[in-house]
Amino acid sequence: MFFGLTDKLQEVFKKLRNKGKLTEEDVNAALREIRLALLEADVNYKVVKDFVARIKERAVGQEVIQSLSPAHQVVKIVRDELINLMGGQNARLNLAPKPPTVVMLVGLQGSGKTTTAAKLALSLKKQGRRPLLVAADVYRPAAVKQLQVLGDQIQVPVWSQTGDPVEIAASAVREANHKGYDVVIIDTAGRLHINEELMRELEEIKARVKPHEVLLVVDAMTGQDAVTVAETFHQRLGLDGVVLTKLDGDTRGGAALSIRAVTGCPIKFVGVGEKLDMLEPFHPDRMADRILG
Ligand code: GDP
Repeated sequence: MFFGLTDKLQEVFKKLRNKGKLTEEDVNAALREIRLALLEADVNYKVVKDFVARIKERAVGQEVIQSLSPAHQVVKIVRDELINLMGGQNARLNLAPKPPTVVMLVGLQGSGKTTTAAKLALSLKKQGRRPLLVAADVYRPAAVKQLQVLGDQIQVPVWSQTGDPVEIAASAVREANHKGYDVVIIDTAGRLHINEELMRELEEIKARVKPHEVLLVVDAMTGQDAVTVAETFHQRLGLDGVVLTKLDGDTRGGAALSIRAVTGCPIKFVGVGEKLDMLEPFHPDRMADRILG
């Protein structure tokens, strides 16, 4: 994960360690290299600028430069600020005080939305909950079939009907109330690109079923595009969180490091593989440690 970025940061820190005592110019040179490494990792330009400014503010003071292990101090500051950048705390799924909790998954086609719906259902099932999956992508019969296949694999029922996606979502919530399902996971339609029709449909579903969680699924491999998608969806729908998928692939880290700072939405889960047990809660501190290597 984030090999390019990790390697470059390690190089910067190694140089600092080799110096022993640090001058302000040493720290500034390191910051310039960190800035470049982040830009190369496709982190949003403004996010990088603010990030480096915060580190500089903390790192060039006498306290760091005159400390016994200045390089160590700089690494610690970078780690702290990486954690802050990704939201600090772990962001959890909001569960409704009175079930069923309604989770609406939104995102572009191919982002991993249907897979994530099944992963989430499996993880909730393992926690002793009774999820119901809802196939609300009526435009692509293959998407409904895909959810049914995944539902069978994990033995979670899938609610599907023909007709209006808003009605399908609403009837799924009624079904959950009748049958005692405590989490309803709605897999909404995706498109290749954001379009008005899709947004309107998602707004209608949201208005009708009043989900406790609207989660955007985005593909980490798409870097800054993922951030732009998140901004647009957040403006239209008001997201509660983001699921960043395909973090197991050859991603550079830009999406993971920019989304929270740009949109204000926390990353709640990460997809780390195609298999259905490969969804992890997102921990900013663990991610910072992975980035630092
Ligand atoms: P949707 O169109 O958004 O519903 O996307 P799908 O759920 O069909 O996923 C698209 C492709 O991405 C499928 O081949 C999935 O197996 C794959 N995929 C989803 N999540 C992950 C992930 O976290 N890691 C990897 N490597 N592949 C994933």
